[in-house]
Amino acid sequence: MALTKLDQLYRQVILDEANHPRHHGTLAAPTHTITVRNPSCGDVLTLQLRVADGVVQDAAFAGSGCTISQASGSLMTDQIIGQTPAVVQQMVQTFSQLVIDGTAPDADLLGDAAILSGVHQFPARIKCATLAWKAASQALTEGEHND
Ligand code: ZN
Repeated sequence: MALTKLDQLYRQVILDEANHPRHHGTLAAPTHTITVRNPSCGDVLTLQLRVADGVVQDAAFAGSGCTISQASGSLMTDQIIGQTPAVVQQMVQTFSQLVIDGTAPDADLLGDAAILSGVHQFPARIKCATLAWKAASQALTEGEHND
């Protein structure tokens, strides 16, 4: 089956995100740090957040993993900066629904990250896509506070 032009575009965007990830590295003064793993693929991701004044001021991720996990980390960090922790938790739920079902009622909340909806066609890769988002959720609820 030939890829549609749209599929090709999505694939290119995902590759670009993975090869040139935004917010990759570490933060100078994180308030939350967490490391999560996806054993089924071998993805490892460390996420750092700086939350102040009730908003995610900055986010960075590091680690190693497949294209989908890296692209998702890049898209996720870019989208959660400037959001309140409550909105981030809502985004995490929406993202999970989007990559499992291929659609979610409030997918607009995810901005550019909604491009990963195509992952629903590859059930084995869903955990790769959700890893970074689960890290954000866990960091905000149970992450190590180093302030
Ligand atoms: Zn993976």
